[in-house]
Amino acid sequence: MTTTVGVIGLGNMGGGMAATLARHAFPVFGFDLSEAAREKAAAAGVTPVSSLAELLETIDIVILSLPKAEHVEQLCLGREGAQENEQDAISLLALGKPGLIVIDTTTSTPETSRKVAAALATRGIDFIDAPVSGGPKGAATGSMSMVIGAEDDVLARAMPVLEAMSGTRVHVGSCGAGNVAKIANNMLAACHLISTAEAVSMAARAGVSPEKLLEGLNAGSGRSGATQVMFPSWVINKAYDSGFSMGLMRKDVGLASDLTARLGMELPLSATVAQLWDDSSATLDDSEDFCAIVQRTDPTLYG
Ligand code: NAD
Repeated sequence: MTTTVGVIGLGNMGGGMAATLARHAFPVFGFDLSEAAREKAAAAGVTPVSSLAELLETIDIVILSLPKAEHVEQLCLGREGAQENEQDAISLLALGKPGLIVIDTTTSTPETSRKVAAALATRGIDFIDAPVSGGPKGAATGSMSMVIGAEDDVLARAMPVLEAMSGTRVHVGSCGAGNVAKIANNMLAACHLISTAEAVSMAARAGVSPEKLLEGLNAGSGRSGATQVMFPSWVINKAYDSGFSMGLMRKDVGLASDLTARLGMELPLSATVAQLWDDSSATLDDSEDFCAIVQRTDPTLYG
């Protein structure tokens, strides 16, 4: 039996995921509040729908790619306090059919994943948190990596769809664990971007070109996603067009600080880096590319 897939949130990531699944011959229906996003998805073989109710009529699996945890919670459970006849009450909980699987690829919070999963389970709907890495290019080519929080039996049912959308999947634990792992990943990415900017700037002042330094770093133990992907693709050429916004990275850095605080931990290096991301809002607004943070390290070299 063919699995019919719905994708909610057709932005930089969700648009690419929907197009990838359509290329893999899944019937794909897409919903986004933005008409422009729906039109772009339609051009990539996705059937756009203009309401959540219409989407939920036909699908077996729904993928979420929304900005933040609060969007996930509202879409899954409806706005708290909304009356049954209000638009905001429309939710997966109210309209989803038993047997539906929700794959949430949003970088969200572990608490949101667990809360939503528990509520949806009361209607026989399963929930997986599967946040992703790999950017819009990874989404559009099906080469993203996923860290997954799920029960084994639900994961097995979702696997054909997950395999079509991603190159690597690591099952890190039960529901919520995917977001713990993703928050840890982005905490490191946020540190690496700034520390690489400092290392490249120092070496440039000492007479080694950024290009040559990166070649050396990538052959040595200083390599990371920042030296292998971010600097060569978006920083050294001053393109700053990764498709990942400053606002979303600030959100992820905030998620790491919140999780650290909830655990009662003090992590001095991460706290300093979080402060730098916070301070950067004085000169870089949320719509900028996240890589532009390096301009605060050395405006002459990176500006
Ligand atoms: P985006 O802003 O490009 O896309 C989000 C889309 O969701 C928008 O098109 C918006 O209109 C839509 N949307 C918001 N609320 C909605 C609702 N209630 N119903 C339907 N549509 C709604 O964001 P993005 O860059 O695609 O990121 C999506 C998620 O993936 C975020 O959690 C982000 O942190 C994560 N992520 C992004 C990247 C990246 O490189 N962009 C990489 C890894 C993870």
